[in-house]
Order: sequence, then structure tokens, then C-alpha cells
Amino acid sequence: MDKITNLIGASPFPQNPVVPRMLEGSATIRFRCRKGIACWNACCGNIDIALTPYDILRLKRRLGLTSSEFLVQYTLPYEMEKDGITGVKLKPVENGSACRFMTADGCDVYSDRPTACRYYPVALLSMRRQDEYTDRSSYALVKEDHCLGHNEPRPVTIDEYRKEQGLDEYDELARGWRQLILKKKSSGPTVGKPSKRSLQLFFMACYDLDRFREFVASPGFREAYDIEPAFMERLGADDVELMQFAFRFLRQVMFGEESLKMKAGAVEKRLARKREREEQAGSKDVPTGGE
Ligand code: SF4
Ligand code: SF4
Repeated sequence: MDKITNLIGASPFPQNPVVPRMLEGSATIRFRCRKGIACWNACCGNIDIALTPYDILRLKRRLGLTSSEFLVQYTLPYEMEKDGITGVKLKPVENGSACRFMTADGCDVYSDRPTACRYYPVALLSMRRQDEYTDRSSYALVKEDHCLGHNEPRPVTIDEYRKEQGLDEYDELARGWRQLILKKKSSGPTVGKPSKRSLQLFFMACYDLDRFREFVASPGFREAYDIEPAFMERLGADDVELMQFAFRFLRQVMFGEESLKMKAGAVEKRLARKREREEQAGSKDVPTGGE
């Protein structure tokens, strides 16, 4: 444990009782949530749900909104770490703590519900050792008094529960984002503080995918990065492909990894433009295409 530098909990109720024991996927828990149980909807009445980029993609599609519209209408930003990267949470009902998707029949967006809702009452702990790039997962159980699902006589392993909840897909498609966060949190002062500009790019590329699509299509971006025309076309049409590309792009922007091929002379042009921009007061932190 001493080498583990970071953890990200994916429980919707991170401030609530997490049983302090790390579990592997093969561990058996006893749990069932079912319609008709006396605590029906109790968990959705007091939410604190952090969203992954893939959660946002699914929900904005479900609601027929652009990512910018979804962010404004349904989310609130929060600081994942002081002066560091920003996360996004579901905004509860006006003047209350209940989820806006809660109905008497259950979740109104059930097949597109967020990762944290799928995991509950399990909390995902992603961690990365200092000497490793890839993350690994472990789990913990969240036991809240109001949740009677723990009294149901159904043994299930965490791996089986994850499968039942469709989490393989959700975790796979959020992996690039989790790795960025873990790497940022464990980088220490050498990689240090990303610039305000790279934090803005992180927010746009991870959460505001439709705006990131416009950014990728901009002349500045095309001038800077050497991207195959057929792949560029796919990025314009496929949200999931674009999201995964966003994670690659951010590894380059935030950590200087050569994850994308740049065009010859692009760095020099970019630096010249940066100098020009810095001479124009007030405009240096606004993201523009290809920089
Ligand atoms: S999204 Fe659905 S499952 Fe999640 S808190 Fe809201 S109503 Fe409950
Ligand atoms: S059993 Fe737990 S998860 Fe299911 S409705 Fe009740 S409080 Fe929510």
C-alpha cells in the first residue's frame, strides 16, 4: 500500500460509510437491489455523483443535447484537487439533494445511468504505483444504514456484479481519463502544475466533447497535427473515437508525451503564435485551435 500514490473512488456517496477493507473482484458480497424493496429510491434522494467523460457522452446523447448544453443544464464543476484538474458532478434538483432523473418507477435514464450509480454499493478504487504507467483496480463496499439491499440473501462476486451492471464497457472507456488523473496526481512537482491553458483544454477535451470536435476541425489544429484524413473523418462522426483521441491529445498537452504526430515546423509556428498572443493582453489563456 505504501507505494500506491493515488486513489479515485467512484462511489456516488464518497462521504458515506465505506467499509475500510480493500476487495478484489473475486470477493463475494451479499446484495440485491429490487423494485418493491422498502428503501426504493432512498439512494437517489441524496446524491453526490461524479461523472466520467463516457457518462457525459451517454447522457447527452440520451437527452438529445450537445455536450455544452448538458454541462450547463445538468452538471456542476468541482475541484478534484486544489488548483488542479476539474471534475464534473450531476446537479441535483433545485433546492434539494435528489437526482433529477429519479422517478417513482426508478431511474429515468436507467440504461445510460452513470458509472457511480452502476457501481453502488461498491466503490471503485483506481490506483497507480509510482513505477507503473497503467492503473489497477480494487474495490470497497459502501454500507449505508438506509440501504436494505445488504440484507437480501443473494451472494454475488464483485466481478459478477460489475458484469451485471454493464461496467466492463464503462470502465474500459473511462480508462484513458482515469490514467490522466492518476498520472497528474502522482507526478509531483517535476511535472508540477499544468498551465491554466492545459487545464482548460483538459475540461473541454474530457467533458465538452462537441466543442472539442470543433477544436479538432479548426484550421489551427489541422495545421499543427499530422492526422490521416480518413481518421479525421471518423473523429467528426464517432463520439467514442473522438473521446479516446481526446485522452491521447491530453497526454501530449499535459505531460509532453509524443502521443500525436505533429507536422514539420508546427512547434516553431506555435511558439511564434504564443509570443504574439502574449503580447496581446488578456488573450493568452483562451484556447484556440491547434495549440
Ligand atoms: S442517475 Fe438514476 S440511478 Fe443515478 S442517482 Fe439518478 S436516478 Fe439514481
Ligand atoms: S437497495 Fe440500496 S441501492 Fe437499492 S433502492 Fe434501496 S437504497 Fe437504493
